Amino acid sequence: MQIERPGVMRPVERPEPQPGHDQVLVRVSACGVCRTDLHLLDGELEIPHPPIIPGHQIVGTVIACGEPTEAAEPPPRPGTRVGIPWLGWTCGRCRYCLSGRENLCDRARFTGRDIDGGYAQSTLADQRYCFALPEGYSDLQLAPLLCAGLIGYRALGMTGDAERLGLFGFGSSAHIVAQVARFQGRRVFAFTRPGDRSTQAFALSLGAEWAGDSVTAPPEELDAAIVFASAGELVPVALGMLAKAGVVVCAGIHMSDIPSFPYSTLWGERVIRSVANLTRQDAREFLALAPQVPVRTDVHPYALADAALALEDLRHGRFVGSAVIDLATERSGARDPA
Ligand SMILES: [Zn+2]
Ligand SMILES: [Zn+2]
Repeated sequence: MQIERPGVMRPVERPEPQPGHDQVLVRVSACGVCRTDLHLLDGELEIPHPPIIPGHQIVGTVIACGEPTEAAEPPPRPGTRVGIPWLGWTCGRCRYCLSGRENLCDRARFTGRDIDGGYAQSTLADQRYCFALPEGYSDLQLAPLLCAGLIGYRALGMTGDAERLGLFGFGSSAHIVAQVARFQGRRVFAFTRPGDRSTQAFALSLGAEWAGDSVTAPPEELDAAIVFASAGELVPVALGMLAKAGVVVCAGIHMSDIPSFPYSTLWGERVIRSVANLTRQDAREFLALAPQVPVRTDVHPYALADAALALEDLRHGRFVGSAVIDLATERSGARDPA
């Protein structure tokens, strides 16, 4: 399923790619659907070299390996289940890469934007950016951990030891972060679209102690807020709910303009910052932590042919939790003589 230009995504047949140096060929089982995919389809984020196969929360099985270059680690053996995230390649040489901040690499390449992703039967990935995955999870349940979970975990880390945590936009990422935050002993306050009672009930079921509309003040001040929604007007709203020295973390890759607000709203050492991408260290930490919580994902499977429907359902908030493209069921169904 490839995005050809803004607003146009369609199925195509392509020959199966062959792995080059440091690459693995992966049979895709599941690929999580992310709001970033929607921004790419809508043209709010540029695709440098279209067409591109979107999808950057990939779970699959290694079926072939290219030759590793000398410095590389031995490739995962065929048959290994791996996860492929948004961060697909970094230069290893720039000031960011050399200081443990490969998420900010000047030349980074991203899965599903610069490198063909997981809305496909199979995909190629650089083995150095693939992860071993925890046991005890199905492929479908794992997929949302690879961006919603990873980016959410990085955003949560940026809130420091904040006790009272507000989550604005209770979608795929927030439903994972809420579970990790509760595990860490934080208190969670969930903010949804006005009137979205089902999502508010969902948040409460995952351990939030309060859930309400994003326009409603919570019962007490917050020490931190993570804004997952792409609505810039939520930033000053969240900022206005913070205690002194609180932080607003903007976790999305794209956001509408942030309206102006009085300086007094920022005064008191309050902070607004963004979180960008992920490092491989984030992934190692989070994938080790997830089974301890244990994080449970609420997934809604879609066939690959229904990828556009999955994105429209995401746009309109028609499900709670995470949408995932399910390629394994489709494959086994195709083999079924019935
Ligand atoms: Zn770099
Ligand atoms: Zn994502």
